[in-house]
Amino acid sequence: MLRMPEKVFLISARASESSTAIARKIEILWEAAGLESCFRVHDLAALKLHVGEPGKTTFVPPAFAAALVRCMRASGARPFLTDSAVLYRSPRNNGIDHAQVAADHGFTLEAVGAPFLPADGIDGSDEVELPVNGRRFETVSIAAAAARARSMLVLSHATGHLGTGFGGALKNLGMGCSSRKAKLRQHFGQQPRIDPKLCNGCADCARGCPEDAITVEKTAAIDADRCIGCGACIARCLEGAVRFDWTISGAELQERIVEHAAALVREKPGRIAYVTSALSITKDCDCLDAPQEPLCEDIGILASRDPVAIDAAALRLFRERTGRTLESMSYPHHDGWAQIRYAEELGLGRSDVEIVTLEA
Ligand code: SF4
Ligand code: SF4
Repeated sequence: MLRMPEKVFLISARASESSTAIARKIEILWEAAGLESCFRVHDLAALKLHVGEPGKTTFVPPAFAAALVRCMRASGARPFLTDSAVLYRSPRNNGIDHAQVAADHGFTLEAVGAPFLPADGIDGSDEVELPVNGRRFETVSIAAAAARARSMLVLSHATGHLGTGFGGALKNLGMGCSSRKAKLRQHFGQQPRIDPKLCNGCADCARGCPEDAITVEKTAAIDADRCIGCGACIARCLEGAVRFDWTISGAELQERIVEHAAALVREKPGRIAYVTSALSITKDCDCLDAPQEPLCEDIGILASRDPVAIDAAALRLFRERTGRTLESMSYPHHDGWAQIRYAEELGLGRSDVEIVTLEA
């Protein structure tokens, strides 16, 4: 039987457009892509986004979230904005300062219409173990609020990425909704180690270790038999003395991320909607704490109920507009399609897409 390609909806847009224009375009996409079908009356519904690093401006602005919150509320859901704690040194590595960054960047209840709630609690440890039975993991640790939400809207920014070459919906879902422990397992093949040349013996890492795996004499030392790889010590150390060895390839990292996404997609079948901004597409993701220039002209905003299709469409559009792959302009040693192929293999969606362009 002839299989029709998966439809992904695109509306042309510019990063400089007004909030009113963006809101109108999101309403058009919402209706055309049938995103309302992902939500039910009274759903506690997560709007997964990235509120940006302090001092950075290329994150998807609050106008997108505000428009999507209105759409989600109109379908009867009760939305909340959410993201999980990062591993590296940043105010976003704990829930309280993360919420403050969200407010500082305009993601307030007043402006957006929904509160920001850290997905994995105040310290990145509020998590739920979900089965996946994948090539890399049998179970994965998902940030609790993302796991418990009945439905979800994944608002992503298509960009290059240091570890994978490309970051879109699958990365936002798989890495962005995982707990600190899961991020560590995604990124690293080993437990942390202390660099004694950088360690000043302050013992902050030991005070934050949930397993009492760290002892400090002149410098800190980790008991490998007790360490569970939660990553709390990385966030606590202000000296950068807790180190990890990057022992896995970009392709393996992508598979690890995709298995976390798979757990969520399977746990909420038909209940996750995807909107991706293909505006201000930059070499690095929104976690980079530095100003970035776009790699190409603004393309527009995409919507779909399929995370594989929306990522495939974003990469295809970038190539059509620039004549080059996104990876070749960001991190050429990576193949960003690896995550798309593996997600398709796991049944998360389809990469054969028809891009339907909508009129504003
Ligand atoms: S927090 Fe960092 S500097 Fe302080 S003892 Fe631990 S590893 Fe050393
Ligand atoms: S990764 Fe977690 S368990 Fe291991 S030493 Fe660091 S804080 Fe302790």
